[in-house]
Amino acid sequence: MPETKRVYLFGNGSAEGNANMKDILGGKGANLAEMNLIGVPVPPGFTITADTCNEYTREGEAKTRERLEDEVKKAVQYVENLMGTSFGSNENPLLLSVRSGSRASMPGMMDTILNLGMNDNAVQGIIARTQNPRFAWDSYRRFVQMYGDVVLGLKPASKEERDPFEIIIEEMKTEKGVEDDLELSADDLKELVRRFKKAVKDSTGHDFPDDPWEQLWGSIFAVFDSWGNDRAVYYRQLNDIPDDWGTAVNVQAMVFGNMGESSATGVAFTRDAGTGENLFNGEYLINAQGEDVVAGIRTPQQITKIGSQRWAKLTNISEEDRAANYPSLEETMPAAYKELFDIQEKLEAHTKDMQDVEFTIQDGKLWMLQTRNGKRTGFAMVKVAMDMVREGLIDEKTALLRMEPNKLNELLHPVFTPKGLAGAKEITKGLPASPGAATGQIVFLAEDAEKWAAEGKKVVLCRVETSPEDLRGMTVANGILTAKGGMTSHAAVVARGMGKCCVSGAGNVNIDYKNRVMNVDGKEYKEGDWISLNGSTGQVLEGAIDTQDPELSGDFAQIMELAEKYTRMYVRTNADNPKDASIARNFGAKGIGLCRTEHMFFEEDKIIPMREMILAKNEEGRRKALEKLLPLQKKDFKGIFEAMDGYPVTVRLLDPPLHEFVPHDEKGQMEMARVMDISYSDIHERVESLMESNPMLGLRGCRLGNLYPEITEMQTRAIIEAALELKREGIKAIPEIMVPLTGIVYEFQAQKEIIEKTIQQVFSENSDSIEYKIGTMIEIPRAALTAHKIAKEADFFSFGTNDLTQMTFGYSRDDVAKFLPLYIDKGILKQDPFAVLDQNGVGQLVSMAVQNGRAVKPSLKCGICGEHGGEPSSVKFCHRVGLNYVSCSPFRVPIARLAAAQAAIE
Ligand code: ADP
Ligand code: MG
Ligand code: MG
Repeated sequence: MPETKRVYLFGNGSAEGNANMKDILGGKGANLAEMNLIGVPVPPGFTITADTCNEYTREGEAKTRERLEDEVKKAVQYVENLMGTSFGSNENPLLLSVRSGSRASMPGMMDTILNLGMNDNAVQGIIARTQNPRFAWDSYRRFVQMYGDVVLGLKPASKEERDPFEIIIEEMKTEKGVEDDLELSADDLKELVRRFKKAVKDSTGHDFPDDPWEQLWGSIFAVFDSWGNDRAVYYRQLNDIPDDWGTAVNVQAMVFGNMGESSATGVAFTRDAGTGENLFNGEYLINAQGEDVVAGIRTPQQITKIGSQRWAKLTNISEEDRAANYPSLEETMPAAYKELFDIQEKLEAHTKDMQDVEFTIQDGKLWMLQTRNGKRTGFAMVKVAMDMVREGLIDEKTALLRMEPNKLNELLHPVFTPKGLAGAKEITKGLPASPGAATGQIVFLAEDAEKWAAEGKKVVLCRVETSPEDLRGMTVANGILTAKGGMTSHAAVVARGMGKCCVSGAGNVNIDYKNRVMNVDGKEYKEGDWISLNGSTGQVLEGAIDTQDPELSGDFAQIMELAEKYTRMYVRTNADNPKDASIARNFGAKGIGLCRTEHMFFEEDKIIPMREMILAKNEEGRRKALEKLLPLQKKDFKGIFEAMDGYPVTVRLLDPPLHEFVPHDEKGQMEMARVMDISYSDIHERVESLMESNPMLGLRGCRLGNLYPEITEMQTRAIIEAALELKREGIKAIPEIMVPLTGIVYEFQAQKEIIEKTIQQVFSENSDSIEYKIGTMIEIPRAALTAHKIAKEADFFSFGTNDLTQMTFGYSRDDVAKFLPLYIDKGILKQDPFAVLDQNGVGQLVSMAVQNGRAVKPSLKCGICGEHGGEPSSVKFCHRVGLNYVSCSPFRVPIARLAAAQAAIE
């Protein structure tokens, strides 16, 4: 045996590998071995390890071939012995398939070559043995076509061009006056082989290789090469698959579905991958090979009779027509069908998961060619797991671990009906910023969105980008489209928070606000025109498309109950209003982790006194305006506390730079001059004086409260008075007052003193009290570094990981769109740190602050309230570093709850 084993054999009920060796053999190879071990009929073959692919990438073809040569020779002999055929023989030739297969399934991303070993001698041998010249020549022409494409590079010159081999086939069909490939005769196919080979010679300058060994080595290296093709690289990027896994190569004896009317090929699922229904289903083609089923050359038929009948109903085909022209496999080949049915049951029982299988029937005999865990929708994911728990196939923990938390998104937002989508025309594409489906009439201004919505119209708000002033327009819109901005742009973040469909950064959209039109690739769309957005794919579609409400099925509720059973960390929500609070509560939120008070101030009744407060010349003026704000804030808090009755609500004191609230236009400033009875120039001057070069790092957070303690006083009073009033009504409010942007312990202490004093005053005024906490956000690196000092003073820490990421990386959140996408493209950054918590950097600050904080105060409550609180990998990290809770937008609550439960089980 060589020092490193590079080739693993399988065949005839035994195998050197097994299902647990996916890292070495790839998913396909490991499962081919396993199927052999459990007595499923699989054509014999061997798997070359994925590590060999990496050797090849590093050291090239010559070295790799030298290392592999002996093992591959022996392996081919092994297959020859089992098959009773001989590679390269002109009497009884062995034909092979060469297939890719990596650790993670990457369907259709890499290359496969079938019927390898074919040449002018072998084809005669096949004809002699099968007495079926048409089949033999069909296999030959398929081989030249695939090998020519994959190994010799005869591909369409561009996306608009057609496949050079398909062009030759088309010419042939025209010459013969036939429409279907199946109508070409053996002689026609023989002629095709000749023309294909000529095309190869013309294009490459070399003869098509006749030597089977040359064909085999060429194919093995071509499959290794396909690991690096554009499709595969892109797929890996999308799915976070490391480049250094490499692909294994599976070499396997061919079985033939194209041998005539008693042969077929197909794919099947043990359950319905769309709905999760426990119903075996799939498609097949008689007298066809491999890819024909998926390639769409001929329309495949259903495998089961019931599936076939359902299909006929959907496509308006009568039962007579169906039975005569589109019969199921169950009807055409009952024996092979029965065996297939039994095998799929066996495979599911063995793997304990829904399987996606490939099979071929050669002259009535069934062969399995692949099995893998089937890809499925969010709906199917939940249903299959819960069904399997009930069937006793898997336990509760396994069901939870089977969930891909992000897929729950599909269960939480309205969706287009399949019928509506079928006829839809795509206008352009942007980023899938917030999932869901939206249909409505185009409006360009937030005010118009409000006006139209008030008239009962459905609108889609189309903007170059959005700002906090557009909030109300966004709230009433069915969906939001922006031309600029990325996944963390204002529009994207706010839309996700609202659970509203949003497509952001659609670069081809040119908006002309003045004329109320947008131009997309030369076509104009006016205000009032209907469009639709698919927030899960980023598609912008023409016209109105029907949507349906998501069904929160019983299974969904049950999986969430299981999550509750196993989780240690609980989930809160970020919410600024009673509606969001109750949505989140229905999804299982156990409190509010972040209630931003500034959003409240943008509402009409509050913005004027708020501006008055900011523009006031002195404390007296500020106090006067704050007095007007107090009852309004109190009312807001009462609404939120009421919705969260019995659960804690963390209220953050005023945080953003003040200039965000003041009017920057002349009209607005004139109005403020009138309201405040001072001159326009005074107002103008004051607005100018509020401008900062770097507002994110300027006068904001607790710096505001420390400069203007009366703001902190008013907000504290509003919170406590609201809670006390509710107490009298029998509602339990548990306020947690949170100081933003602490960097130095003294900043917090000073605020805490004011808060404490105000609380005691309100208590004594009311001769009553309630339970409360005072804590701080940890979002400045210095705060994390001095956590032991701050913890002495604070009841809780809430990690504001948006700002903490911004300040740890030194990336301005407002400017990252300029370079972040490029950094990710170049691999300098693996992920957007504003979407996925940077565990090695920012995460270390979090972990350290928790440890050092708890060292001085073991009861210190710790949570996180950044965008990361709803991102599964970040949630799991939060569990590991011992946070008490994560807080996220309402529509992410179920996702976070599942991720938290998984973290507890893992
Ligand atoms: P992919 O990963 O893209 O599905 P596969 O390696 O599974 O590629 O092969 C492509 C097609 O060729 C499949 O339909 C498969 O069933 C078929 N195929 C592969 N190997 C053989 C074989 N030895 N005999 C018959 N058909 C095969
Ligand atoms: Mg396959
Ligand atoms: Mg912050």
